[in-house]
Amino acid sequence: MKTEVFFLDENNIDFDIIDRAANVIRNNGTVVFPTETVYGLGANALSGEAVKKIFAAKGRPNDNPLIAHVSSMNMLLYLIGSPLRAEAGLLIDKYWPGPLTLIFKKSGKVPDEVTAGLDTIAVRMPDNRIALELIERSGLPIAAPSANISGKPSPTTPEHVIADMKGKVNMILCGSKCRVGVESTILDMSGDMPVLLRPGGLTLEELEILLGPVRVCGRKVGDKKIPKAPGMKYTHYAPDADMIIVNGELNNVKMKIQELATEYSSRGMKVGVLASDETAGYYKACKVLSLGSRLDARVIASNIFEKLREFDKIGVDIILAEAFDESHLGMAVMNRMKKAAGFNIIEV
Ligand code: AMP
Ligand code: MG
Repeated sequence: MKTEVFFLDENNIDFDIIDRAANVIRNNGTVVFPTETVYGLGANALSGEAVKKIFAAKGRPNDNPLIAHVSSMNMLLYLIGSPLRAEAGLLIDKYWPGPLTLIFKKSGKVPDEVTAGLDTIAVRMPDNRIALELIERSGLPIAAPSANISGKPSPTTPEHVIADMKGKVNMILCGSKCRVGVESTILDMSGDMPVLLRPGGLTLEELEILLGPVRVCGRKVGDKKIPKAPGMKYTHYAPDADMIIVNGELNNVKMKIQELATEYSSRGMKVGVLASDETAGYYKACKVLSLGSRLDARVIASNIFEKLREFDKIGVDIILAEAFDESHLGMAVMNRMKKAAGFNIIEV
């Protein structure tokens, strides 16, 4: 497939290009676009035929539902099947547009392909002007998962989306590097109590300011059980190399990682270490990438997928990763890292 690629400046948008992209969406084609979390692979959320193209381009299992992206409250109300609850209204007032996806009972307008046959729909309003203009000018909600090949780290730069999606979609809109760098937080509002299904760019602590204590859905789901958050059973964010996380007191972590790095290198393996600014200088005889300072979780989050992809490019055989603190944005970072490592964690 021929893919048109355009570069846009979020602060000085070329609306002719947005209109061309909106036309592709209205004609049930596929458009990759930037958001504040990660790049999305979008199609008309009201057309089953359009949405099928997303699953085909990504190689995504079709029982893994998508998030519908909206630019207005009217679009949200069109997609949901019951009146908006007060709690949801409060969250929307405070955190939209932003990295918070809410799950509601769906209306009859939503095709089964979007929700993988569920009676609920996931909706969010992205905090990126290119994304909002595209949705607004299409006049349609846009279903979009991350614009990576299924199972791979999510794309956060134009280089990533071009590498994964060129030739597989009709159009790619490139913006800047994604500000947040991890996907949205998913909160299920369809039951009696809000439940956190996926930690993401909006922290649990921020949600709890408005909601009080929030239930967090169990972490890993066995193959036989029906997953509460569909998609949780699939491999996610996996770099090409095997990955091991080392968790514990930072000095012990450093020593363990160096010990493992020495051992793997002696077996002829190319070793990558995923470190932080505070520790990166410590490691010898391996390729070290830093996620940033441990004092700034926002920087760590914005770099996680980029660094995992960088190890793929370098072609390491094994990645040894320092664990990070799991509070605030660290919860989302560690969630992605654990999945990338297939829950391969050494405690020291
Ligand atoms: P992504 O994989 O980033 O495209 O995000 C989509 C994720 O949102 C899916 O993998 C699910 O975990 C979650 N999701 C989407 N729709 C629903 C839904 N109706 N109910 C529960 N989780 C959902
Ligand atoms: Mg994804």
